Amino acid sequence: MNKHFKIFLTNVKCPYCNSNLELIEDKKFVWVGCGKCRIYVRVSKCFISKKVVGKKIFPWREIIQELIDMLYQVCQQ
Ligand SMILES: [Zn+2]
Repeated sequence: MNKHFKIFLTNVKCPYCNSNLELIEDKKFVWVGCGKCRIYVRVSKCFISKKVVGKKIFPWREIIQELIDMLYQVCQQ
């Protein structure tokens, strides 16, 4: 991940350390994770493009929520 865009999700906390989770976008992927614990899950932009075909409104919330759910699942294992 060199050139990327990063924001913090201030109301979603890391299940391990309780820090705010990060939402990162790079060339190919959108990531959600914790910078402190170095745990990330990602989804490719290709996958997102396929998912939103035919939709009038871009489902940001749905996509981000799925990433958060994925992260929590990974952390439970
Ligand atoms: Zn953490």
